[in-house]
Amino acid sequence: MMNIVLLGPPGAGKGTQAQRLVNGRGMLQLSTGDMLREAVASGTPVGLKAKAVMEAGELVSDAIVSALIGERLDSAGDAGVIFDGFPRTRAQAEALDLLLAERGRSLDHVVEICVEEDALVERITGRFSCASCGTGYHDRFKQPRQEGVCDVCSSTDFCRRPDDNEQTVRTRLAEYRRKTEPILPYYNERTLVRRVDGMRSVDEVAARIDAVLDSSELVRGA
Ligand code: AMP
Repeated sequence: MMNIVLLGPPGAGKGTQAQRLVNGRGMLQLSTGDMLREAVASGTPVGLKAKAVMEAGELVSDAIVSALIGERLDSAGDAGVIFDGFPRTRAQAEALDLLLAERGRSLDHVVEICVEEDALVERITGRFSCASCGTGYHDRFKQPRQEGVCDVCSSTDFCRRPDDNEQTVRTRLAEYRRKTEPILPYYNERTLVRRVDGMRSVDEVAARIDAVLDSSELVRGA
């Protein structure tokens, strides 16, 4: 039951890599961004509070996101968990330690996906997804094989996140630098951080992450 955090700026590829780990290893992806978007879409009290904050590219309160993670962890069963987009502040990192300890879990790795900031704006502003199955695409890097038709489910409906515009992306990057990067020393003290070069291809990044996860399995099995 391995528990890992995927850390990195918006657009680093955390969601893409988390999805691979879900498919390849049967791990559970807990993405606070996805949970908040669901809450906004269904108009829950949390969604009503979070909507404007997300549209501005700022961070939702630590209490809200930590509570969301706590609820989902309770239904994780024996699965290993990938924390994607959480924690984003020092207070959330401390909350996560507590939530895990209360459930007899602990963190095995914090995988930091490093990407040059100039590449991020282009990555984020070009992305879109299938409105039906959620498969991700990109204007420049990954168009559907047949224009306007999803490769996976053949839907012709696509959508873009409202916060994937350049102005909001700049705020999201600033929030990352100011509030999330300072978590690294907290995890570094416990030698949990593994740096991965996120400028490489999706497959190469996945291979590096696999190497990190497999090396610790060897140690455990020894
Ligand atoms: P993401 O999908 O991870 O890029 O998150 C989209 C937006 O949701 C962020 O820009 C924040 O407004 C909000 N959000 C997601 N996760 C968190 C978190 N752990 N703490 C605070 N706000 C978050």
